[in-house]
Amino acid sequence: MKIHGLQKMTLLDFPGKVACTVFLGGCDLRCPFCHNAELIDGTAPAVMDETGLLEFLKKRQGLLEGVAITGGEPLLRGEELVRLAEKIREMGYPLKLDTNGTHPERLRQMIDAGLVAYAAMDIKNDPDRYAETCGLEQMDLGPVRESAALLMGGKADYEFRTTVVAELHDEDSFRKIGKWIRGAKRYYLQKFTDRDTVAFAGFHAPAEEELRKYLEIAREFVPGAELRGTE
Ligand code: SF4
Repeated sequence: MKIHGLQKMTLLDFPGKVACTVFLGGCDLRCPFCHNAELIDGTAPAVMDETGLLEFLKKRQGLLEGVAITGGEPLLRGEELVRLAEKIREMGYPLKLDTNGTHPERLRQMIDAGLVAYAAMDIKNDPDRYAETCGLEQMDLGPVRESAALLMGGKADYEFRTTVVAELHDEDSFRKIGKWIRGAKRYYLQKFTDRDTVAFAGFHAPAEEELRKYLEIAREFVPGAELRGTE
């Protein structure tokens, strides 16, 4: 399997654990604010193969406490990802998986097999603006709803998160998202930050005040909702 990036140590990606982050290229969405835009189409050069990754993980046993896999959309790798997750588990590492929620069957398969210790799923926006936020003309939200319901079913520890963009979200967005994920275990609002890797210019972070207002609204539905990545 091609590995498109490896951050050798992070304290931020896997809650409560010193982890490494593995980047797998390829995504079925085209979010215009994507920070991993160079990974979207999966054509970015690989930095290593699976053997190289497993050798690295072997050397770090006892130092790292977990492995975070992100993308792109990791679940697009299908059975290849399942096999890799099995090998990671055999080495004693818990796995954190990031997903955009578009592959609920694969997510279910991995959770049922006990391969996912923690899942982080994007809730891109309220259903009315979902396709726009994902950079698509139209989108069947069924799979995303199914993935969200699966996580809320509680078989794996999880969080939902929304990257908040001034041009894409308003108060109404968080009312509608709140109704959708009411009672979720964890929900984070992450402020969009502009970076060189953002695919298309023209997006901005919301004002701090707006963000706090959105958090208040989200907390009406998910009392433990938090801001992430703000001062
Ligand atoms: S789902 Fe994630 S990786 Fe895919 S385009 Fe959107 S932000 Fe980028």
